Amino acid sequence: MADNYAIGIDFGGTKVLAGVVNTKTGELVATSKKKTKQAGEQQQLMRRLSIVIDGAIEEAGIDASRIKGIGIGVAGMVDREKGILLSGVNIGANNLKIAEPLAEQYGIPVKLGNDVEVATLGELHFGAGKKCDNFVCVFVGTGIGSGIISNGAIYYGSTGTAGEIGHTVLFPNGRPCNCGAYGCLETYASRMAIARQVVAGIKRGQKTSVAAEIDETKGLLRSRTLAQAVETGDPLVTRCVIDAAKHLGTGLATIVNFLNPERIILGGGLVEEVGLYYDVAVQEVGQLCLPIPGSALNIKKAKLGDFAGIIGAAMLVQ
Ligand SMILES: [Zn+2]
Repeated sequence: MADNYAIGIDFGGTKVLAGVVNTKTGELVATSKKKTKQAGEQQQLMRRLSIVIDGAIEEAGIDASRIKGIGIGVAGMVDREKGILLSGVNIGANNLKIAEPLAEQYGIPVKLGNDVEVATLGELHFGAGKKCDNFVCVFVGTGIGSGIISNGAIYYGSTGTAGEIGHTVLFPNGRPCNCGAYGCLETYASRMAIARQVVAGIKRGQKTSVAAEIDETKGLLRSRTLAQAVETGDPLVTRCVIDAAKHLGTGLATIVNFLNPERIILGGGLVEEVGLYYDVAVQEVGQLCLPIPGSALNIKKAKLGDFAGIIGAAMLVQ
């Protein structure tokens, strides 16, 4: 029997996760995890990749010869052909050759993709995008990214960076964004945006149950914390979540009008944990998009959760 195992790696700013995946069924056979230190030495980053790969193979208890390849989804911009991480701000590495050294070390093909792209691939093959040829996955985290599936395949765009919905400008004179522009969607609708609005509210003297939970260094609140605050009726957090969700809905309506997808799949911790955020965003899309593309649209939550990155990355090996 032909082997269908591949290793998928989710290479993020805070951790590297690897798993052995059955690429026929999407089953995750084993996983292993290692922290990525900020701005680590490039050799150390590569060493961590090897450690998680070896860990996942060992955990899976299958012979390494049965693994047909390694797929890596990395948080940053990549050169897919050369397997190079061009720019990885959160990982602290630029122009890092990833695929070639690993291919030499393990003697199998290694493919590199971007993290949003591989999570979208995971949803396409085994998640909320199964049997759907035209959809857009939108992942809300500290920022907002999206992956576009057109006629059953990823749409990359001419420089391979299509899908940067988070940098759609909603307000030209709005809040400054990390990208250098002002008023980008992600400065209004992401988890970071919510945390910043909560901090602003606290500074204006508004009471909230989450004041002690804010990570001042990163300006972040965990999705779970936000969900609990909404459940207990915290007025500041509830208002900030609703505002952010409405802005997300505005961004999604732009996608609907422009691309006319059959489906939008929403993922990320905020979507999964904070029901109010999801509900308000969905309602807002319906109110803002054009009636004809809106009538054919359905919106779903992503299905693969934390493992979308690993499972999707393994699907790069085809
Ligand atoms: Zn921006």
